[in-house]
Amino acid sequence: MSCDSQVVERLSGLVSSFICHSAGHLPDDVKTRLAQMKEVETEGFAPSIYDVMEKNMEMADKLGRPSCQDTGLPQFFAKVGTGFPYLEEIEPALVEAVKKATVEAPLRHNAVEVFDEVNTGNNVAHRIPWIDWELVPGSDKLELYFYMAGGGCSLPGFAKVLMPLEGYDGIAKAVFDQMTTYGVNACPPCLVGIGIAGSAEVAAKLSKKALLRPVGSHNENPKAAQMERDIEEGLNSVGLGPGGFGGKLSVMGVNIEQAARHPATLAVGMSTACWAHRRAGMIISPDFTYDFFTHKGVTL
Ligand code: SF4
Repeated sequence: MSCDSQVVERLSGLVSSFICHSAGHLPDDVKTRLAQMKEVETEGFAPSIYDVMEKNMEMADKLGRPSCQDTGLPQFFAKVGTGFPYLEEIEPALVEAVKKATVEAPLRHNAVEVFDEVNTGNNVAHRIPWIDWELVPGSDKLELYFYMAGGGCSLPGFAKVLMPLEGYDGIAKAVFDQMTTYGVNACPPCLVGIGIAGSAEVAAKLSKKALLRPVGSHNENPKAAQMERDIEEGLNSVGLGPGGFGGKLSVMGVNIEQAARHPATLAVGMSTACWAHRRAGMIISPDFTYDFFTHKGVTL
């Protein structure tokens, strides 16, 4: 089966606009949460840090520029309907879209080839853009998420396998150790994604997928949802505050995703998103109409 170049062009044009818009505009749920958090912070440096964030968002919109100089390593998470008619074209279109958006957004050149230690200059390199695939039986649509994995917000990430005896307290301890050591590098307030599974790589991947869930949403499992609330409350009491300058709130929220574990292992992974949590999601139909659901009312 060969690739249809016209479809690649059409799809890459749409995805490139999607990337460019998300580089300069935070998703609706993040903007709402930041505004709520600003109301709570009335002392010290915190109110002025929120003022700066607000000004930053305003200027990014006005000037058509990214809302942070670090536009991250490009990552896609694709939920592909098995009936989506352009399976062959998705990957070449995503690669092309990144190249195009690198010039048009513009995106910082962030892809450095490992071992060669060469920056490719267009955000396309070995396995970058990173693409995570999921198949959705019975659907003819492509649900596409884009995430800009910045350096600072990727730094606190980790995954490790605990002895089951360490239990859920062990998971919380690992998260707190990491957040109190590296959390400030992730430009708080952060969204904290936690993956719980039987092995390190599954936990790590789930922790990143947890960041794609809306801020303020909760795990369907009531015990997991309680753990999200408990860790959120605990991390807020650490007092990192916006930008790490101190404050009442350190995190926008905590999202947990889980997979069943092996009886002898309890793995935990963590990923963090910064205040400039540039995640975008849209659903593309076979006729190229789309629902840009993270940024309502935006036409690409
Ligand atoms: S952590 Fe986020 S806001 Fe801070 S420099 Fe990195 S991408 Fe920008």
